Amino acid sequence: MKRILFFCILLFSFAGYSQNPFVDRDHAIFHPPLSGRNVGYKITVTLDTLSHIVKGKESIYWLNNTQFSTKVLYFHLYMNAFKNNSTIMMKNIEKLRHKILGIKLTPETAGYCSIKNIAVNFNNLTDYFHVEGTVGVLHLPFDVKPGESVMIELEFETKLPRIMIRSGYAGSFHFVGQWYPKLGVFQDNGKWYCPEYDGNGEFFSDFGVYQVKLTLPSYFIVTGTGLVVSERIEGDVRKVYFYAEDVHDFAFVAWDKFRVLSKKVKGKTLYVYYFKEHEKIAKRELDALERVFNWYNKNIGEYPYPDYKVIDVPFNGLGASGMEYENFSTSFSLSLFPDWLRATESTVVHEFGHAYWQGMVATNEHRQAWADEGLNSFFEGILMDRFYGECSEMKFHVFCENGFSRFESPNFEVLKYEKPDKEASEFVSRGSYGLASYNKFALTLKTIANLEGEDVVIDAAREFFNQYKFKHPDGKEFVKILNEKTDNKYKRLLNLVLFDVGFPDAKVLKVEKKCEPYFIGYNNRDVFYREREKSGKRNCKSYFYRVVVAKRELPLDVNGIVTFKSGKVEHFIIPADKNIIELKFPVEKTDRLESVYLDPDRKIMIDLDRSNNLYRYKPSLFENRLAVLVFNMLMELFAYVF
Ligand SMILES: [Zn+2]
Repeated sequence: MKRILFFCILLFSFAGYSQNPFVDRDHAIFHPPLSGRNVGYKITVTLDTLSHIVKGKESIYWLNNTQFSTKVLYFHLYMNAFKNNSTIMMKNIEKLRHKILGIKLTPETAGYCSIKNIAVNFNNLTDYFHVEGTVGVLHLPFDVKPGESVMIELEFETKLPRIMIRSGYAGSFHFVGQWYPKLGVFQDNGKWYCPEYDGNGEFFSDFGVYQVKLTLPSYFIVTGTGLVVSERIEGDVRKVYFYAEDVHDFAFVAWDKFRVLSKKVKGKTLYVYYFKEHEKIAKRELDALERVFNWYNKNIGEYPYPDYKVIDVPFNGLGASGMEYENFSTSFSLSLFPDWLRATESTVVHEFGHAYWQGMVATNEHRQAWADEGLNSFFEGILMDRFYGECSEMKFHVFCENGFSRFESPNFEVLKYEKPDKEASEFVSRGSYGLASYNKFALTLKTIANLEGEDVVIDAAREFFNQYKFKHPDGKEFVKILNEKTDNKYKRLLNLVLFDVGFPDAKVLKVEKKCEPYFIGYNNRDVFYREREKSGKRNCKSYFYRVVVAKRELPLDVNGIVTFKSGKVEHFIIPADKNIIELKFPVEKTDRLESVYLDPDRKIMIDLDRSNNLYRYKPSLFENRLAVLVFNMLMELFAYVF
């Protein structure tokens, strides 16, 4: 029975591949297909670069590959987030829009995505369609049963907003992302996943095939997801046909100022689209792209698509920078950045990583941003150190130990109330979403890499990639692989850090000098009491330091070091299963404890508050004053003599 069922599923999934009607047989890229391809999009549009409107026709093929029936279809209409001031997105990016970019909402700067009419399997269902914010809902008069497919035809118009976040226009620069009506994901639990576009969380959709035919002014240069299969100029318009397979999104960029740099690497073409003033920067971007492309291909798995592009974004369009798309990403650089500030390179390294973590291993970015952003930030950190030397991103060595220094933040307090594993919309602020999704998991992985070697994390990532490429895994699958590779040594830590509000912290609690009195005899009243006084004066046989060190939500061995004025050094460990320990260090009368330092090698990067790791002897006020007095007297003497 099981075998028959397995056979049916197999047959069924192959049926899915071959039935996708938008496979362009003349330009097919992958045989056999890399993904399930249960969706297909055929979009024919015109981009008006003056009104910033993209409009045209769209056909969507959708195969219900779950065990559940549905009577409703959900669509993302992302650009409705820029419709007016009261959308969730506009409220979330208010500061960015007003204070930083100074953009007011006008008919020019606002955006929308509207569906003019919609039909399913040749039934006009426009009357059954309604819009709730950035989500379109279509009630069907029939069920789409498991294994059945539908063909949706619609006409739409998208007005691009002035670039505030990710998509839109800035002058003649057009970044056209999240622009077309896109199906939500009908999940294995029989529920649609199609959340409101709120700016915090990113994107999640099914793998499929895209045919996009675009008409725009002839003097515009355009690039995007997939391959340009044909491009021709007819009069004053340019007609471009893009074709992409086994991707879960389609975006494009059009600008009349683009220049192009390219290089063939391992049979694939790497491009940088840049503008005149960024000629030098473009070379650095291509260099960074080549390094990160080679590293991922060698260490994680093959990048299968024919090309990858880095898009250099102009200053007035910086809101679109530092963002990943299928087969391309936007960089982040300014001409005034000094060469040693490698924000340019680190953005390329980070965004290319997304081709793997979210691009091919398509975790749900809105539900589990840590699974791609945290993992990807870890790779950004170790790769920047490998490619350009430790601290290459921030050359102020005073502040920087390695590529992870920028992930350490003084604002971690907010994480006491925010666990990373939740919907992006549930975070209190964009700041806490970022700390929880990027920094916290990256620092946890760096901790494990420091203690076990980087290869353990790289091996786990490679296995995660090989098992789940072109699928929608739960981020927990990566954690499971990592736990297997580390004999569950970090299981408790990972649970605390990702699935709870764990705030790992080690702390020096108390340092005090104590006296060991002479034993003179038992007290008259209490036999356990030792005499401490002798003729009313303190009488110490010897001295010792009592040091109390503690940790919380940090189930790892934490090393510590104690230094003394005499030069003596002592080492200790707070064991993984202990939260507080008391230590005793005997000293000579003249000696003094100078410092207690927890995790002095900074291996446990997930210790979120490092300010309390170090105790340093502070001279008393008197000693300080005495030192100042002596110094001043010496200076006086110096002045007198010379
Ligand atoms: Zn990212």
